[in-house]
Amino acid sequence: MRIVLLGPPGGGKGTQAAILKQQWDIPHVSTGELLRAACREQTPLGQKVQAVMDAGELVSDDLMLDLLEQRFAASDVDKGFILDGYPRNLAQADALDKLLRRIDQPLDLALLIEVDQQHILDRIEQRAREEGRSDDTAEVVRNRLQVYLEHTAPVAEYYAADGRLIRVLGEGEIDAITQRILAAMQAADCMH
Ligand code: AMP
Repeated sequence: MRIVLLGPPGGGKGTQAAILKQQWDIPHVSTGELLRAACREQTPLGQKVQAVMDAGELVSDDLMLDLLEQRFAASDVDKGFILDGYPRNLAQADALDKLLRRIDQPLDLALLIEVDQQHILDRIEQRAREEGRSDDTAEVVRNRLQVYLEHTAPVAEYYAADGRLIRVLGEGEIDAITQRILAAMQAADCMH
């Protein structure tokens, strides 16, 4: 299974990815996690992107593609992957298709987890309290949502255009959302 998770920040992509990864025994590739690790380790990339992330803005497409190419050079993604956090705009969606075609691992589908804005603000505030992420303050959260609506939301249409998009409501209990995802995928006949 080669799948991209789409949806607003704080919309539960990471939570569902962690569950699906276990179920399918494939890696969860989170670009946000890769970047946070680079920041923690103070690598040259980490030093470049920390301020951009703290402001809730998007890291440049070039840096992201480098990061992604490095991650996809590892052999664990050969058995499939759940990609979370990428693509964040149309240029990245196009770059991803090209990269995956080049390594002969084309995407099966994009899964959009839809959540309304107030839900997101509540969830992100809770995560800020629990995890202390430096990009989870109220002002930055609003900016991340704005960036999502402007740049990332159109990516769903990119996948819908050629029939690769599945939409699932991301509200309610975590288990119920997982079941909804699995049912929607089964209905679309893409479980294999
Ligand atoms: P996330 O954990 O996916 O919410 O990502 C946290 C932050 O990392 C984002 O707000 C961006 O600053 C940066 N980031 C993660 N993935 C991408 C991407 N594909 N393109 C640009 N910036 C990204």
